Amino acid sequence: MAVPKKKTSQSRRNMRRAHHALSPNAHAECPNCGELKRPHHVCPSCGYYDGREVAAAGDAVKKAVRT
Ligand SMILES: [Zn+2]
Repeated sequence: MAVPKKKTSQSRRNMRRAHHALSPNAHAECPNCGELKRPHHVCPSCGYYDGREVAAAGDAVKKAVRT
């Protein structure tokens, strides 16, 4: 196995990790109910997508749809 010759300095390690930050989840207002939802996903609160109801609203959708 390849073994590093030198210990990675704190500076090098932190430079590597500069790209590791998580970006916040995208969200958009549901045009039907106004609740925040993920873009291109069924609205978990009203079950609408693209102007029509595609799933029954309620807790069942919230469990099936990952928010
Ligand atoms: Zn909605």
